[in-house]
Amino acid sequence: MAILKALQLLSLIFIQICPIAHSIRELSDPSPFEFVDNLHESSESNSIEGLNKLKNYLKQFGYLNYEDETLLNDDLVDANLESAIKTYQENFNINATGMLDATTIAQLTAPRCGVPDIINGYNTMLRNNSHNPMSKSINIVSHYTFFPNRPRWPSSKTHLTYRLVPNSRADAVAAVDSAFKKWDAATRFSFSRVAKAPSDLLVGFFSRNHGDEDPFDGKGGVLAHAFAPTDGRLHYDADENWVNGAVPGGFDMETVAIHEIGHLLGLGHSPDQSAIMYPTIPPGITKGLGKDDIKGIEALYA
Ligand code: ZN
Ligand code: ZN
Repeated sequence: MAILKALQLLSLIFIQICPIAHSIRELSDPSPFEFVDNLHESSESNSIEGLNKLKNYLKQFGYLNYEDETLLNDDLVDANLESAIKTYQENFNINATGMLDATTIAQLTAPRCGVPDIINGYNTMLRNNSHNPMSKSINIVSHYTFFPNRPRWPSSKTHLTYRLVPNSRADAVAAVDSAFKKWDAATRFSFSRVAKAPSDLLVGFFSRNHGDEDPFDGKGGVLAHAFAPTDGRLHYDADENWVNGAVPGGFDMETVAIHEIGHLLGLGHSPDQSAIMYPTIPPGITKGLGKDDIKGIEALYA
């Protein structure tokens, strides 16, 4: 049965990836997703060169766990991987086939936030999942989520100070200010920038390994990440093409900051594509707070 499923998965990979290999290459080049190109290489076994990269990607965002870590670094298709792909598809509203179809690959290669969608087995994007402790508060029109155990700022702490790491790029200051103003206007929180430590929140640009066990991956892939309350750190990946506004091929610093501030305040990822807390963002656009995001903060701090 497992072999049959593996073959089914493989045949779909071959059938569906070949025609789109070129477009995927254009979509993701240069990026940490070059392995996608390898997935179309023919194989007589259930091994696909580069599949370990997909496994590691799914592990990074919480979808895949093996008791035996060596399975993570081989290129073999297995039931765990298929199940992880299904969960990923459910989170992104893709038909949950467990197959690597074109839609799934396009989603996998989209630039995104580095905060995992599943944290310690808790799927932050599935609020109405019966396995999810949040399922008691089912509200079918809301999709916002929180981190496990709902970390948040103390109720007395409605004013938060922030600062940028010294020598941060000068053109980020106005973008970050503007992002905090958006949350300021829509929530109980107010924010002010301070020049020197201490501050509640700290924003900076970092490349690759930067001391928090969550290294950035160079251009493409992960754009930024931030920590749940009351940590306060918000990190941009310095290797991205950061811009102000909707510039083709660039990522708007304000838009990404609005998303990451959501994490600083305690929001998890939302499967609602119109929410700022949706995990992926294409280049060349700007986006603001959605209704779902504001409802989320109101619910977390009610
Ligand atoms: Zn995020
Ligand atoms: Zn970091």
